[in-house]
Amino acid sequence: MAVREVLVAPDPRLKAKAKPVGKVDDAVRALMDDMVETMYAAKGIGLAAPQIGVSKRIVVMDLAREGEPAEPRKFVDPEIVWASEETVPCEEGCLSVPDQYAEVERPKQVRVRYRDENDKVQEIDCDGLLAVCIQHEMDHLKGVLFVDHLSALKRSMILRKVQKAQRLKAAE
Ligand SMILES: [Zn+2]
Repeated sequence: MAVREVLVAPDPRLKAKAKPVGKVDDAVRALMDDMVETMYAAKGIGLAAPQIGVSKRIVVMDLAREGEPAEPRKFVDPEIVWASEETVPCEEGCLSVPDQYAEVERPKQVRVRYRDENDKVQEIDCDGLLAVCIQHEMDHLKGVLFVDHLSALKRSMILRKVQKAQRLKAAE
C-alpha cells in the first residue's frame, strides 16, 4: 500500500470524466488499498480515484467517528439508481479544495448500485452523512467539485483562496 498525492483544484485532471472499471481484479483492489491509505493519511472521509489522478470510477469512504474502529467502504462503478425528491443542505469540504467549506443542497436519500471488492453487484440505501458523502464522491467521477454547485462568485472566491494557500505552501 502507498499514500498517493491528492490533486488540488484547479488541476485539470479533476475536471475529467472517469472511465468505467469493468472487472474488479487484483490491480483494482491494490488501487483501492492505496486510496484508503491516502484518505486516512489526509484525514478525509471519502476519496475518488480522479483525486489521485486515476481516471476510473472508484470511490472509497470511511465514516467511522474518531475512536470508533475503521470501517473502509469501497465502491466500483457506482450508479445512483434512485434519489429522493426531498433535498437537504449540508456543509461540505473536499481534500482537493483544502480548508474550504460551503453548504450544498442534495437529495436527502439515494440508492446506489456498485460492485464490491469481490466484483459482486451490491445495492445500498444511503441517508444522512452517507448520502451526502457518496453523492459528493460520485460527483468527482463526473469531473464535478462541490464548488461547482455554488454561485460563480462564491466558487471563484474559494478557488482563489485555495490557490493563494498553495502558493504560500510552495514558497515555504
Ligand atoms: Zn471531494
